[in-house]
Amino acid sequence: MTDQTKEELPELSDQEIKDFLESAPLYARRRYGLPTVNRTSLHIQQIDDHCDVCGERRPFGDIRPKGGGSGMAVPRLDTGRSYFEFTCLTCRRASRRYYVVQFVTDEHVDIEKAGQYPRPRLPRNRHVQRFMADDAANYEKAIACLANAYGIGAFAYYRRLVEDNIGRLLELVREDAAASSSGTETLAALEQLGTNCPMAEKIKIANDAVPAHLKPDGLNPLGRLYGALSEGIHSLSEEQCLNQARLIDQCLAFLLAELADRKKHREEFKRSVGGL
Ligand SMILES: [Zn+2]
Repeated sequence: MTDQTKEELPELSDQEIKDFLESAPLYARRRYGLPTVNRTSLHIQQIDDHCDVCGERRPFGDIRPKGGGSGMAVPRLDTGRSYFEFTCLTCRRASRRYYVVQFVTDEHVDIEKAGQYPRPRLPRNRHVQRFMADDAANYEKAIACLANAYGIGAFAYYRRLVEDNIGRLLELVREDAAASSSGTETLAALEQLGTNCPMAEKIKIANDAVPAHLKPDGLNPLGRLYGALSEGIHSLSEEQCLNQARLIDQCLAFLLAELADRKKHREEFKRSVGGL
């Protein structure tokens, strides 16, 4: 039975530890089979990460001076804690520190990430980030919840972000519509969205407030955003909340990227033609 358990588990190797340090969220615990080579610690030489100083992904190595330890018996890997410290090998300025707790039995090794400094970069969309610059604290919490799959938290933060910023978003749609010839219908619908009509009505109006070029295959991002606002957070499961949060994130990312692109193209065109 022991052999079978061993086979099913990935072996604790340098590569597995590297993957774990680089990608596991805080307090994630993973189980590995016992290492076949004699390991005295979890220590590894290098990880890779995005370096903020260098501005790109770089190798980070352990450049601390090695301790003497001569004459001391080398202990085998045992239950305990491990500390890792890596420095960017290019700039030698950025560092990554990890604190890991390991539980060793005769059959497997469990490791848990108990600390990480600095806080890891979270996957984010640059358009949404720029748009939410004044609401950065809530946006950070929203993407942190999303990255850790905390659905209820993520949905609550994303809803708050949309509620507090929908006016500015509509203003961007209005600007885009005012600059295009087919914008009359859109502008009229946007007027109505500003009024205090019930949410169900707003979802319907939002459909007209978005011009066709912002509705890929008829999918209306603004309507979906209003739809997400109308969902009662209490009636949804953790999984459904997570999906709603992802939906909001993607609708915002799409709308803001498209609007920014169109604005940029308009300005470039005006500049080049206006100069002739
Ligand atoms: Zn660097």
